[in-house]
Amino acid sequence: MKNLSAKLPHSPKYSLIIPIYNEQETISELYHRVSQIMNDLNGQVELILINDGSKDRSLELIRQLHQEDSRICYLSFARNFGHQTAVTAGLNFARGEAIIVLDADLQDPPELIPEMIDKWKQGYEVVYAQRIKRKQEGWFKRFTAYAFYRLLQLLADVTIPADTGDFCLMDRKVVDILNVMPERNRYIRGLRAWIGFRQTAVLFEREPRYAGTVKYTFRKSFSLALNSLISFSRVPLRISTYLGLLSAILALFMAFLVLYWRLIQTNSPVTGLATIMIAIFFLGSVQLICLGILGEYIGRVYEEVKGRPLYTLAEIVGFEQSHATDS
Ligand code: UDP
Ligand code: MG
Repeated sequence: MKNLSAKLPHSPKYSLIIPIYNEQETISELYHRVSQIMNDLNGQVELILINDGSKDRSLELIRQLHQEDSRICYLSFARNFGHQTAVTAGLNFARGEAIIVLDADLQDPPELIPEMIDKWKQGYEVVYAQRIKRKQEGWFKRFTAYAFYRLLQLLADVTIPADTGDFCLMDRKVVDILNVMPERNRYIRGLRAWIGFRQTAVLFEREPRYAGTVKYTFRKSFSLALNSLISFSRVPLRISTYLGLLSAILALFMAFLVLYWRLIQTNSPVTGLATIMIAIFFLGSVQLICLGILGEYIGRVYEEVKGRPLYTLAEIVGFEQSHATDS
């Protein structure tokens, strides 16, 4: 997807990107809080809302907001493509020099944005928000998130800071690079870490969701976690090699044991059927696990070579005019 900024005489200084999936309960409060921040930014700002195939009244509400406030532009997907893809679309269309990504449910407090902008002005190209606390999230979510971020740090090729989400500010330079990265498996916080430049954190306590239910179901979270591991690490492939080696050593050891029982200790304790069954099951499962791991990688290669567009757009509204003032 081409960046539209080249066509415009004046681009806004800041772009805010918010993906929206069935958020009808939060949109008006979201607008209320975000617009206060936008007012403080002297009008040099655009707000890009991406409707990720919502099935509720979200799109209708977004259209209304666009009518009322010309700083708002929006994209609407032809179906649900997922959070990371929605953010990607926002980045493709953003025209600002500093681009800020946040969630629609107000778990990422917009009031943190001025602090991020301060850091950007100090020369940091990436300012990510790091959670020091998650308020009112269940123990299961807290535990799995904690364990996952540590595992990812252990296995990934790049250091992805723990407890960071997509809530961040990125400089135009970084977004331009993200936009030309062709991969479809877009684990944005990983790609962001991979790109480099000067990065820093601002700390915050994660609020509970303002309203509505979590849109990241367990399945979506699990798939995001698996994607990120596989996109940023080849360790799982190596694990299958190690498993193979381990079972070879085990087999050799057992062969010697059997020989010893047969030749030296003639009253052999080996009972035939059970041993064979265990060996077959053991080898069978090692092979299936390895095939599964391999399959995960090959499946992703297949996705990449198909080269389909990342998303399909039903509406692109508000990008014709620039929202910037001449100052
Ligand atoms: N979201 C999206 N598409 C999806 C799922 C979620 O655009 O398929 C958006 C959602 O509207 C919200 C953000 O992604 O703005 C984060 O979702 P949520 O708060 O449900 O997940 P959390 O990160 O809090 O677990
Ligand atoms: Mg949330």
